[in-house]
Amino acid sequence: MDPTDSSPINPLTQIQRRYNATPVQTPTRPARAALTIQPAPIDSPGNPLAPIKHRKQLRNGYEQSPKTPSYRPYSLNNPGTPRQKAFNISNPAGLQSIPALDPEQWNNLAVKSGVIAADAQLRGFQIQISNLVLMRRGDALLISPTGSGKSLTWILPLLARKEGMSLVVTPYTSLGLDGELSNKGDGISSLFVYSEQNSQQDFEKAATGEMLVIYVCPEMLKSPSFACLIHSASWRGRLSAIYIDEAHLVHQTHTWRPSYSRIYQFRKIVGLDTPLIALSATCPELYRHSLLTFAGLRMDYTLINHGNFRPELSTIILPMLYDITSFLDIAFILPLGTREADLVPTIVYADDLELLTKMFWWAFSRAASMGIPTHAIDIIHSGLSVRHQELCMNDFRNGITKILLGSSKISAGINFPGVKRVVQYKCRDLRLPNFDQRRGRGARRQGETAVGMIFVEPSMKLGGDFSVENPGEQDPGMIELVQSDECAEAIIQRHLDNPRHNRDPSYNCCNRCDPSMQPGREYEWVEENPGPSSAFPTTNKSTTAQRELIYDKLAAWCLQHWRSYRKAKWPSYGPKTLISDSDLEELAAHTNKINCIEDMRRYTHIVHWKDLSTPLFESLQGICQELNLLPPAPEIVIAEPTVNQPPQKRRKTTEKRKPEELAQGEMIIDFQ
Ligand SMILES: [Zn+2]
Repeated sequence: MDPTDSSPINPLTQIQRRYNATPVQTPTRPARAALTIQPAPIDSPGNPLAPIKHRKQLRNGYEQSPKTPSYRPYSLNNPGTPRQKAFNISNPAGLQSIPALDPEQWNNLAVKSGVIAADAQLRGFQIQISNLVLMRRGDALLISPTGSGKSLTWILPLLARKEGMSLVVTPYTSLGLDGELSNKGDGISSLFVYSEQNSQQDFEKAATGEMLVIYVCPEMLKSPSFACLIHSASWRGRLSAIYIDEAHLVHQTHTWRPSYSRIYQFRKIVGLDTPLIALSATCPELYRHSLLTFAGLRMDYTLINHGNFRPELSTIILPMLYDITSFLDIAFILPLGTREADLVPTIVYADDLELLTKMFWWAFSRAASMGIPTHAIDIIHSGLSVRHQELCMNDFRNGITKILLGSSKISAGINFPGVKRVVQYKCRDLRLPNFDQRRGRGARRQGETAVGMIFVEPSMKLGGDFSVENPGEQDPGMIELVQSDECAEAIIQRHLDNPRHNRDPSYNCCNRCDPSMQPGREYEWVEENPGPSSAFPTTNKSTTAQRELIYDKLAAWCLQHWRSYRKAKWPSYGPKTLISDSDLEELAAHTNKINCIEDMRRYTHIVHWKDLSTPLFESLQGICQELNLLPPAPEIVIAEPTVNQPPQKRRKTTEKRKPEELAQGEMIIDFQ
């Protein structure tokens, strides 16, 4: 029998299809009671939003292991090093408490200094925190949506006092640089002290500045150089307040970023009279407890919790359908045939550097094949130099880069205008507050909307390696978010301890409530009538010599195809842009696993799939036949129907049955 027989009742295909069919199952869903996350006791193991294991630290592309510092944190004099002196600044007396301003006074001040537009108003929390700082009346924790203007809280008190300094502890270099460049209002200057900007002049500026915002990362804060400032009583006296930006990181990173677990030592030196203001968009109860322990936040702090509900953000959660390294699940970010001007500004997060790099090359070649300038795609991660990261972010901010692929380097707090999509590619090891922070990069300007998407890999899907009851080291909140069929927004709000808000019926919350929000799957492929392609039987495994021969023949075919059909149309593209060498090698190595056109997807990254897949498959099929790699056609035995035969006893499926034992309509298909 011809294995490529295309008759609609090809028994071989029927059997294969039935064998491959996924059994229909009702997905088992954990009982509602099990999904309700109780506020966990602080020390209970495996509590929701628990910190996870150590993450890789990279510097200039190399992994770094955390080192015990060679100095005593926050200490001026260390054994074996030259004695250092604290700055002796001939400043006037330390800052004193001054009376609060009323909202009208604050608004006038903010408009006059140019920090808000003439027709805008300050928000309640900005005024509340600024007054608390002016009066030096204790500490505060502000939980407020990303992009709601938390940074004004370290500028406004300086504008009101016309003197003093705000010290902002910032987690990332990028965030410090971003803060240093942003609009600060008349008379305010800023300085970011970090590894590449820590000269004597910088410290002198930090020591003597007035109306100055000093940004510093926690590592620099505890260094001996910074100790010269910290141990100067006159400098401490000039501090208007200490701000811990992205304060959720104290909880999330204290296990692998010890600088965050030692801020309390700094607080001890500065004293409790200088207000400490912690700011975050997501700070559930457990996180708040860590601020008391590790950052030295006063027990009687004022909590201002506006939650992080942003109705301009929607959520889409989708399981991955394709191989992770094929990136076909996110092909919609670069739709075939699109032009540069039509690309939607998108951030794609992937936390595995290797995967991120692969994704970059996939997007890069896909863009190139469509004639989109390659500057439209860029990648950012901690392995790049600070300067490189800076350029990267400027290009994205200015709209030169349309699609930015990155790791946690595209951190919370960085403001990019116009981002419409934030895609999380794989979610293992990610915690729900992180996702919430990440999707918060979208819709940062008034009137914009954006969508946060998670593509869930098989191990995190329902029925995968984890469940809410058995989360392992994963965040149960994240597991519930990706595995439940409940409204995604409701799950996020519940886990983040956000205050209740009135739901607007027109709000597009998630794809579970409105499935029409899902992006089109560009590669959706439905076989209605099995054609010759799926009748191609499994080939025998080839030898190395055969694989090389297949590769050569495929390369020759590819060249021929290019000459005949492509060369005249796209003279600037060579045959290797059609199908890369590595794709051809993969195909040659896996001929025994390629039974139909779709099977080739697993081994290739062909951009012009629609045009090339059929001729390529036919060529591969021809080569296999030529090399006798196809198995002999299966023997099909159709038994004579027997009438009124008594029912047969069930046998083990491995046992061979004789034709005469078959019931009416049964047949034997024997793959020799
Ligand atoms: Zn919903």
